[in-house]
Amino acid sequence: MNSVSKKCNCCGKEIIEEQGVYKEEWLEIIKDWGYFSGKDMERHHLIVCETCYDKWVSGFCIPPEVTEQTEVL
Ligand SMILES: [Zn+2]
Repeated sequence: MNSVSKKCNCCGKEIIEEQGVYKEEWLEIIKDWGYFSGKDMERHHLIVCETCYDKWVSGFCIPPEVTEQTEVL
């Protein structure tokens, strides 16, 4: 089974994968834009590596809310 290589949309870096295991994490966004957007009926899909994510959110006016993960049963 061929795995699809993932690339960061922001910097173009490939997300390293070895034997089906990704060696780093990324942010993946799939957005179905609707009627009230200028992109009605478009689906946008993007991947952002952790480095680009950190750079991206550091420019936010309000930083992302960070909470500790608790195990979901
Ligand atoms: Zn990147």
